[in-house]
Formats: sequence, C-alpha cells, structure tokens
Amino acid sequence: MTTATDTSTVYDQLIDRIKDIDLLGGSATVLGWDQEVMMPPGGIEYRARQLAQLAGLRHEWFTDPRVDELLSACEADGELNADPLSPPAVNVRELRRDYARKTKLPSELVAEEAKLASLGQHSWAEARKKSDFEHFRPVLEQIVDLLRRKAECYGWAVGGEPWDALAEDFEPGCTAEFVAGVFGPLRDRLQAFLTKLMDGPRKPSNTFNEVEIPIPEQEKFNRIVAEAIGYDFKRGRLDTSTHPFTTGSHCNDIRITTRYRADGFNDALAGTMHECGHGMYEQGLPPEHIGTPMSASISLGIHESQSRMWENQVGRSLAFWKWCHPRVVDSFGDRLEGLTLDDAYGSANNVRPGFIRVEADEATYNMHVMVRFELERAILNGDLAVKDIPGQWNAKYKEYLGVDVPDDARGCLQDIHWSMAAMGYFPTYTLGNLYCAQFFEQALKDMPNLHEQFEAGEFGELKTWLNKNIHAHAKRYRAADLCEHLTGKPLSADPLMRHLEAKFGPLYGI
Ligand SMILES: [Zn+2]
Repeated sequence: MTTATDTSTVYDQLIDRIKDIDLLGGSATVLGWDQEVMMPPGGIEYRARQLAQLAGLRHEWFTDPRVDELLSACEADGELNADPLSPPAVNVRELRRDYARKTKLPSELVAEEAKLASLGQHSWAEARKKSDFEHFRPVLEQIVDLLRRKAECYGWAVGGEPWDALAEDFEPGCTAEFVAGVFGPLRDRLQAFLTKLMDGPRKPSNTFNEVEIPIPEQEKFNRIVAEAIGYDFKRGRLDTSTHPFTTGSHCNDIRITTRYRADGFNDALAGTMHECGHGMYEQGLPPEHIGTPMSASISLGIHESQSRMWENQVGRSLAFWKWCHPRVVDSFGDRLEGLTLDDAYGSANNVRPGFIRVEADEATYNMHVMVRFELERAILNGDLAVKDIPGQWNAKYKEYLGVDVPDDARGCLQDIHWSMAAMGYFPTYTLGNLYCAQFFEQALKDMPNLHEQFEAGEFGELKTWLNKNIHAHAKRYRAADLCEHLTGKPLSADPLMRHLEAKFGPLYGI
C-alpha cells in the first residue's frame, strides 16, 4: 500500500524530473532569443542544430515511460488530489495532459509536420512576394491534410470538431462552438458600430502620427514608460527585433523586444506597452514553482489579454495621455509645434478599416481575426476547399470591413500562421481582447479611481490586481473558468463593445 509519505516522495521525484526537463526548455528559449536579437547571420546553421538537439532531448526525457509511472502514482494519491486546485494537484493534472498529447502523435507525423512547416514557410514567402496564391496552394493542401490527420490523432469531444483538437495547443479547453458563440454577436455589433463610426461627423486628430522622432530618443522614452507601468528591468530586458516578441526561460529572466520607425512613435510605444503586458504576466508567475505548470501561463488568449490591457485599456486611454502628453512635449517639444492633448490622444485612436491585420486599429482588429477563424474552421471541417480561400477571403473582407482586397499578397497571403501549420491560433488574439475588456471592467469595479491613478502616473495598483487575480494562479484554471471565477460571468462580447463604444463614440461624434 502506498502511504502519503511515499507518494509525496513520488511527487518530488516527478517534479525534480520536470524541473530538469525545463532547464533544457529554458536554455532553448535563450538561444532562440539570441537568434532574433544578437546572433550574427553566420550562426544560423549551427543554431538550428543546437535548437533541434535540445528539442529532441526534451521530447525524449518528457515522454520517458518513467514519467508516466510517476504520474500514475501521483494520480492514485487521494491526499495529493484532495484539493484539485492545489499546486501539486494542478501540476499533476497539467503534466498528464501534456504527456497524453505528446505521446498521441506518431513520430512520422511529427517529422512530416516539421518538414511541411519549413517547406510551407518557404513556399508562402515566395507566393507572397509574387502575390500568387496558386504557388502556395499545393503545399497548403498538404498542410491541411496533415492537420486533419493530426486532429484525428488527438481526438475531440463528442459534438466537437477537428478545430478543437488543434486549438488545444494554444487555448486549452477552447472549442470552435465556444468561439463562434462569442464571436457571432461581436461581429454583428462591431459591423454596425463601424458603419456608424465611419459616417460620424468628427474624426480624431492624426497629426502626432506624422511627426518624425529620432529612434535613439524614442528608445529612451519607451524605457521610461516601460519602467513607469511596472515592467521589472531587474528581471527583464527590452531590446529591438524585426518582429516584436516576448520570451524568457523563467519568471526572473524575461526578454521583450520592440521595433522603431522614425515616423512611427505611436506604433513603437503601443508595441512596447503590448510586450510589457506579456512580460509583466510572465514576471508575475509564482517564482516558487519555476519549471512546473504552476509557474506557466494559462493560454495564448489570456496572455494576449495582459498585453492588450497595457496597450489598449491603459496606453490608449485619455487618462494615460493626460500623464504622457506633457512628458512627450518635454522630451520632443521642439519637433511638435503645439501638439495638444487632443492631438496626442486622437492620434493613438484613429480607426481605419483596411485589409492588413497587423496594421489594424483597436476597433477593426477583431474583424480580421474573425475572417480567419471562420475560414480555418470551414477548411478543417472539409466545407471549404483550399483553392476557394482567396475568393472567400475577399468576400468576407468586403462584407465585414467594406474593403476591396487588391491582391492575394495583401489578402489571404499576408499572415505566416497557416504556412507554419498553425490552425486554431488566430482566435486567441480576439479572445485576448475580449478577456481583457471583461477583466478591466472588473478591475474598475474593484478600483473605481483607476483612471485618476493613470492620470497621476500611478499604475502599480492595476499591476498588483493583475498579479493577484490572474498571474498568481498560473495554470490553476482554464481560461473560461478564470473569467467566471474573476468576473462572475462567462466570457461575452458585451464588455469589449461597451469599451469600444465609450471610447470611439465621443472621438467620432456619435
Ligand atoms: Zn501579443
């Protein structure tokens, strides 16, 4: 018979092993960061081999049958699992989930996926350059076929669909039905709102987006803002890279990046605040559980809720600009010729329906994501053939955003995701915006003077609230459960729509 003491030893053995495996993952993370930020181009060939070796070792160690034995022993212990939300119970639950998923895929399929993802990216880049979807179509057909087989290996719940199985990698517990249930009302209300907005009698100022500010000065300013909102430079770095990202081997060593253009002050600042939000989530995870699921983020959607919190709810608010505007004038005043608060705040909040997702504003962004979700769901269900993607894409852009997509490069070839065999990923961007708005409404209920605080340059109380209510839980809850636990309600489109209407209504005079 297993005694409690025996089993706690088994749990310790499991956690020791998992922490060892995490050292490999953390090392790979730093090498990956180095590749994007520091490495000279000549290093690429060996770096790819270094990363492949670490990934292989990590997979081998994690899928070792001994991990299965240790997990089974822990699962059999009633005392350890008495409170299913305790850190040991959560760790065992999450590790079992990972183990099951990693051992469900045949190694030939994993190898085929790696090959197709590499081929896919190459073919996609060529096709995008030539704006020729037909060039990419054969590889994408192979990718879709592979993803449908991969979904079959994972399986999905009764009444579910292949999309659910793939989304598990990005948003555990999320289903296409759940996403459609929230996105449907959001799409209809957003579409009506955007029409009204574009016909509104006023337009916000855009002058601050036309000013050039030398990049070294922008870098200095972005660091000041990052520090002010609470990004911890003793446990984090801020560098530049071609595509901004956040990474880190554990909560005490987080790396964020941003990018600058002389005529893109607002884009860089918003980007920095966005990545700070991701970084502060990681820095807020419990350090005592480093290397285990109890020191890891819930999902990409919740991650994005944290980045959007600082980028949009804080960084694009009037209160923030009341604090930031005099600082901007102080730092760059000689170039700004009478820049008013309205100019600064308006320039951060211009709405322009367009066809490029990554250039979209806060109000139209989610439409781009919904187009992708509807298409990938139909593709995986066999309701849409790959050859029909461009036509469907363009029709949805016309319907939802009222824009004519000029060519495939600026249409269905603009994103890298599908070429990397990632389907089930896109909706996490909009789920993030939805969770963000719902969390922020709750934060305002708990701290009604938040906006006055922002105006005074005080951001600590919001950060502490996020630390306590979201970050400290690590993987304790699924995203949808955390939302109900924290806000008392299931995820809904209402808070995001209320936020967009309250902000853009006055700016556009409606
Ligand atoms: Zn993000």
